[in-house]
Amino acid sequence: MSHSEQLFARAQKVIPGGVNSPVRAFKSVGGTPLFIERAEQAYLFDADGKRYIDYVGSWGPMIAGHANPEIIAAVKEAVDYGLSYGAPTSIEVDMAERICEIMPSIEMVRMVNSGTEATMSAIRLARGFTGRDNILKFEGGYHGHADSLLVKAGSGALTLGEPDSPGVPADIAKHTLTLDYNNSEQVEALFKAQGDSIACIIVEPVSGNMNCVPPVPGFLETLRKVCDEYGAILILDEVMTGFRVAKGGAQAYYNIKPDLTTLGKIIGGGMPVGAFGGRADIMQQLAPTGPVYQAGTLSGNPIAMAAGLKTLEIISRDGFYEDLDRKTDRMVKGMLLAASDNGVPMTSNRVGAMFGLFFSKEQLITNFSQVKQCDIGSFNRFFHGMLQEGVNLAPSAYEAGFVSSAHTDQDIDNTIAAARKVFVNL
Ligand code: PMP
Repeated sequence: MSHSEQLFARAQKVIPGGVNSPVRAFKSVGGTPLFIERAEQAYLFDADGKRYIDYVGSWGPMIAGHANPEIIAAVKEAVDYGLSYGAPTSIEVDMAERICEIMPSIEMVRMVNSGTEATMSAIRLARGFTGRDNILKFEGGYHGHADSLLVKAGSGALTLGEPDSPGVPADIAKHTLTLDYNNSEQVEALFKAQGDSIACIIVEPVSGNMNCVPPVPGFLETLRKVCDEYGAILILDEVMTGFRVAKGGAQAYYNIKPDLTTLGKIIGGGMPVGAFGGRADIMQQLAPTGPVYQAGTLSGNPIAMAAGLKTLEIISRDGFYEDLDRKTDRMVKGMLLAASDNGVPMTSNRVGAMFGLFFSKEQLITNFSQVKQCDIGSFNRFFHGMLQEGVNLAPSAYEAGFVSSAHTDQDIDNTIAAARKVFVNL
């Protein structure tokens, strides 16, 4: 028995499914999840000492590489001052100023502890501000696990076949309207019929929880337009895309100004952090300036802020995104060539350092029903073959992949060489 197998057996006795977040369990791909002992640069090392080139990056945050020495040093320095005070600190102000600078649509911001808290709070705020109950999301979109958002959800909920979780009261779920991602006509028709009842639209500007599906031209613009027309709030959920597809997130990449933005992952640099922010007139409705309640014992935690601020400093350096873009392009093009050389039907999507590989004969994947038709069996065999070759991909066909600044050209070329081997026997 490997160390991972031993640990998984122990874990399953005391942790549901042996994991603290469902997708980690390898349930859809089969087999035993790797228990990780440490990580460095582009690599994970498992409990059996095997090294993997990693394209999960803790599901997005590790854009500057694992155990980045500058981030670790910033955390170590912060730790000596105490772990938490439950009182305001200067580093929170630095963080808020930095976020507002990088994303100009954010005039005020509040820190929370996860992406789930960010989206849950942003939705409450949108409902409080507009006095409306209904929200619109898109099928296959994942925005964390708050009740209102586990309706036709993506990510692990989709992978495990529970997009509408039991435990969400029907009286809450009925206020979550869902439409097809990238279908502007449906959005216009819905708003025409009942736009006055809709508090907000929440959308992943690049969908990253049903593999990777970018917005078609005009889709985000339509969302902006109907929100303006009907007085609804546009929430761009940039928990994944923020500081990932571009420094200023998808809103900079596609030039769309949301009313509210939700953030997570990269702003924590690997620590548990989320944030939501946007128009000052909306944000001022939050307690204590306004009546919409939202709070957090550990929100703005100084250690988490130190990791996040250092990460934001690193990504702001000249050439950071150009380099990531080039490397991710090299990776995706290499994969596609390796697949076609071996007669494996594969297509891909990529926005900046976020990519998706699809086992599909289609040339262009733009919607959820196309994603669902991809060949899951091939993905699962590919996933395990790559693991065998020392490459860690997300254990689900419904997740995006991420490249970090620590991936070298050699790492990428080794990944493509591994894929070539796996494709031969796929
Ligand atoms: N929104 C999006 C777009 C996400 O990808 C995720 C998590 N993958 C979340 C929200 C929830 O974030 P967390 O897991 O930190 O609660």
